[in-house]
Amino acid sequence: MSKIAEEFGIKQALKDLGLNEINNGTSTGTDWFSNGEILESYSPVDGALIGKVKATTKEDYEKVITTAEKGFKEWRTWTAPQRGEVVRQFNDELRRLKEPLGKLVSYEMGKSYQEGLGEVQEMIDICDFAVGLSRQLYGLTMHSERPGHRMYEQYHPLGVVGIISAFNFPVAVWAWNTALAWVCGDACIWKGSEKTPLTSVACQNIAERVFKENDVPAGVSCLISGDYKVGQMMTTDDRVPLISATGSIRMGKIVAQAVAARLGKTLLELGGNNAIIVTPDANIKNTVIGAVFGAVGTCGQRCTSTRRLIVHEDIYDKVKDAIVNAYKQIRIGNPLDENNHVGPLIDKDAVKNYQAALDKVVEEGGKILVEGGVLEGEGYESGCYVKPAIAEAENHFEIVQHETFAPVLYIMKYSGDVSDALKLQNGVKQGLSSAIMTNNLREAERFLSAEGSDCGIANVNIGTSGAEIGGAFGGEKETGGGRESGSDAWKVYMRRQTNTINYTTELPLAQGIKFDL
Ligand code: NAD
Repeated sequence: MSKIAEEFGIKQALKDLGLNEINNGTSTGTDWFSNGEILESYSPVDGALIGKVKATTKEDYEKVITTAEKGFKEWRTWTAPQRGEVVRQFNDELRRLKEPLGKLVSYEMGKSYQEGLGEVQEMIDICDFAVGLSRQLYGLTMHSERPGHRMYEQYHPLGVVGIISAFNFPVAVWAWNTALAWVCGDACIWKGSEKTPLTSVACQNIAERVFKENDVPAGVSCLISGDYKVGQMMTTDDRVPLISATGSIRMGKIVAQAVAARLGKTLLELGGNNAIIVTPDANIKNTVIGAVFGAVGTCGQRCTSTRRLIVHEDIYDKVKDAIVNAYKQIRIGNPLDENNHVGPLIDKDAVKNYQAALDKVVEEGGKILVEGGVLEGEGYESGCYVKPAIAEAENHFEIVQHETFAPVLYIMKYSGDVSDALKLQNGVKQGLSSAIMTNNLREAERFLSAEGSDCGIANVNIGTSGAEIGGAFGGEKETGGGRESGSDAWKVYMRRQTNTINYTTELPLAQGIKFDL
């Protein structure tokens, strides 16, 4: 165990979460096994080995999918409130283990401890939501055009749901999907990120314990581990009617095609390129807080991170100076230490991408306003700590058009009115999160109108980063179009059936058609 791991109680956290030095990465919810290669999990915090997870083989996967299919057949016969009760108990365990799980998220992924706890809180919130939902899986009734007939629609469990998740939200995204899918009566198979395999095992341990106590059938909560090849076992498998995949646009395009080729359903939550528009009527102090947190929080590794700041020319210099000054106060270091604002990037490949983006923006004619760079020396031995950077750039630059998953903020000017700012904001291929800072009602409403932001999330006077579980979460265009979490996102985990009942002694046909025999 490294010095930091000792000092910040990682050993105890691993113990509380039931993790060993070597863990099986395959589980049917009652049975753990794995015959694949070993995945080693190194912390980006200090470069130390945290633990090992054995990956899932094709044979392991077969056992998981057949168990999940069987488990589903029984689970769908439980009433939805009975399933909700199991989720309620699972949530009690999350509340009890919030600190160790938050700590492991921080140490394995590199986000601040506060953000790690925040991520577990999101799991808790979505479980609360799911418990209520278990009594509200409503369908509509409608009036039939035929006399003596009743029509309604109802929602049935869908089957086995495959969940593929990214490294940057190693636990919350699973819960957003699984808590809803479970109350909807589905069985879930989760492949977490190969960069954060231990948090996945920790979560599955919690579910397994609660499910066993409640005699939930094997297969309702399953875990598989490994890289994209293990993900492909599910995307190409027609026994998995829905794939919910969170990650890069590159991955989403491959997954979407694989699932579409077998006419399966996808829920895609992919990359963003999020902007804040700052108008002459903005509150500058709040703009700076929202933009800085949005750009450097989680070291710029949120799908909702602020990548672009589109500022009106009248206040451009004032906003630019205020943000550049605010960056001087950012403390970079061990994310478990609550005095630091920014932790490391996930790995050295991410560091290379960050450096390449800074080179590229200069090559394309941009101007660096806050220098980047990789930190070295004591406390930075993992080689993953970088300085958040700001560059003055133009929206059409190739590098600005792409999501760089790192703390690089591009600042640009607009003149004219809010529609000119919207042209820039909407002028990228991604469509996840967006924001406007203004105290002008007309500007705010135009931003929210049909001609306004084309993103799945559009905020007024708060930044782009983060979201509450109560709303449907997701984005348009290359972000994939999926919606998960709150509102009516549950419907994707169920199959809709329209029912018509004839309670007459005749058989009238629809559209007045006569068919006398
Ligand atoms: P990634 O695309 O490299 O990997 C994500 C997951 O997909 C991993 O589990 C990986 O093993 C799996 N995968 C990759 N290729 C696959 C394939 N061909 N078939 C099946 N599975 C495959 O992404 P990452 O680096 O882990 O995460 C960062 C990206 O995720 C960013 O682009 C970020 O914006 C995005 N993200 C989006 C959201 C959202 O809700 N929109 C949330 C979190 C992260």
